[in-house]
Amino acid sequence: MNNVITCSRCNYQGQIKKLRIKRLEQEVPVCEECDALWLTPLREEPVYGVDFIDFKSFLEGQGVKYDASEWEPVDAGSASKI
Ligand SMILES: [Zn+2]
Repeated sequence: MNNVITCSRCNYQGQIKKLRIKRLEQEVPVCEECDALWLTPLREEPVYGVDFIDFKSFLEGQGVKYDASEWEPVDAGSASKI
């Protein structure tokens, strides 16, 4: 069992953590290194807008401010379900 998922967009530098956007009541997988928000399962050569988008762009698209008070981390265990 492996709960640590790293991000192919930043060359596996970053770990992907699930964040809950409080206002949207939605959980999203975000890379803590490059802020990629993953829309699909991880792939070797991800395409922007298809496989991932910037976390900030996502929030702004939903009318949510890019501010740490808007989200909270979800238990590490659930990250394996991305
Ligand atoms: Zn990344």
